Order: sequence, then structure tokens, then C-alpha cells
Amino acid sequence: MSRKDLKREREALRSQDYLIDRMSSWRVPDFLDVMREILDRRSASREQYDFEQTNYVLGIASRMLSEDASADDKVWDATSVTAIGYVDYDHYPGGVGMDLFCQEGTCSECGLTIISVAKNSICPHCGDTVYCT
Ligand SMILES: [Zn+2]
Repeated sequence: MSRKDLKREREALRSQDYLIDRMSSWRVPDFLDVMREILDRRSASREQYDFEQTNYVLGIASRMLSEDASADDKVWDATSVTAIGYVDYDHYPGGVGMDLFCQEGTCSECGLTIISVAKNSICPHCGDTVYCT
């Protein structure tokens, strides 16, 4: 790598660090809005086939400490992944104040279970509205 390329690479990395630092401090709805735009663009650029619908989505992976665990031996139950739903701003024109994923629902169109910061959400896979509880 030439000195010029190395300098360019370092500047890009600083820029990336800045972006990561900034985005890490954003409220969850703001972060999701940006990620939705990025993931939608990436999904649209994927090769699409008539027989499948594939999209990038954000998710939360979680697992619980097993009842068999002891203080010295952590045993975990199976991990599950839940997709993160987007805020349905038709219901929240001023935005949402909630910053916690405390709402859950299942998309009636595609069957995906989502977790969200808002009761009225958008399925990240098919784009249908999902009412969460
Ligand atoms: Zn759906």
C-alpha cells in the first residue's frame, strides 16, 4: 500500500470511527430510521427472484440462563432472534419518545415476529403494518 493510499485509508477509518461514535449515541428510533434506509437500499440491490423475498433486517438475539446453571457454570438455553420493527410514523407524526424495545407483535402478512419501540410498527420484511402489544 502506497503512503498516499495509507493516508486515504486512515482518513476513511477516522471518518468511520466518527460515524460509529455518533450513531452509537443516537436514540433508538433515530438509529432505526437510518438503518432502515441503508438496509432497504442494500436489499433492493440484491439479486431478486420471483420465487423468494429476501431482505436485510435488524434483529435482537437473546438467550436465558438455564435453570441448570450454577454460579460457577453458566449454562444457556437456546438463542432466539427476533426482527426489529420500524416505527409507523403515520401514527406518530411527532416521533416516538420510547427508547426501549418493549412492544412485540406478529406480522399478519408474512408471519414475522417483531420487537419494536412503538405499538404501531412496520414489518421490516414485507412492509406491512404490525400492531404490537
Ligand atoms: Zn411482514
